[in-house]
Amino acid sequence: MGDKRKDYISWDEYFMGIATLSGMRSKDPNTQVGACIVSQDNKILSMGYNGLPRGCSDDEFPWNRDGEDNKYFYTTHSELNAILNYRGGSLDNAKLYVTLFPCNECAKAIIQAGIKTVVYDCDKYADTASVIASKRMLNAAGVRYYKYERTGRTITIEL
Ligand SMILES: [Zn+2]
Repeated sequence: MGDKRKDYISWDEYFMGIATLSGMRSKDPNTQVGACIVSQDNKILSMGYNGLPRGCSDDEFPWNRDGEDNKYFYTTHSELNAILNYRGGSLDNAKLYVTLFPCNECAKAIIQAGIKTVVYDCDKYADTASVIASKRMLNAAGVRYYKYERTGRTITIEL
């Protein structure tokens, strides 16, 4: 009997990899965030990235960050998109992988959707009011969150 492969990717690498790949779909010139929702038994339920709602053209709506008309009026974050993209029923007890710590608005959606665990990669806005409020709500609601531990593995995929 042969031994099994040893260099297969872990569940965390797999799902954070999918979240990262999803973020690469974003048209936002400044921020690309991806999310992947998985069940308790490690089945992928949904994916999302930051972008415009269906029917709102990527070429007609603004991508600039300031000015009277800017992207913040129109774009949906990856976590909310992943939640809204799911049509299978309940997300109770699901786990969310996301490349950037969720903002306060996404935290509300995560809590209300029943997601119980958040695995994030980057937390570069930890000092902002939005992320402080986000953590306050996640803590109060009993949503566990922890930082993804990078393994240093580089994966090249030829497409
Ligand atoms: Zn958000």
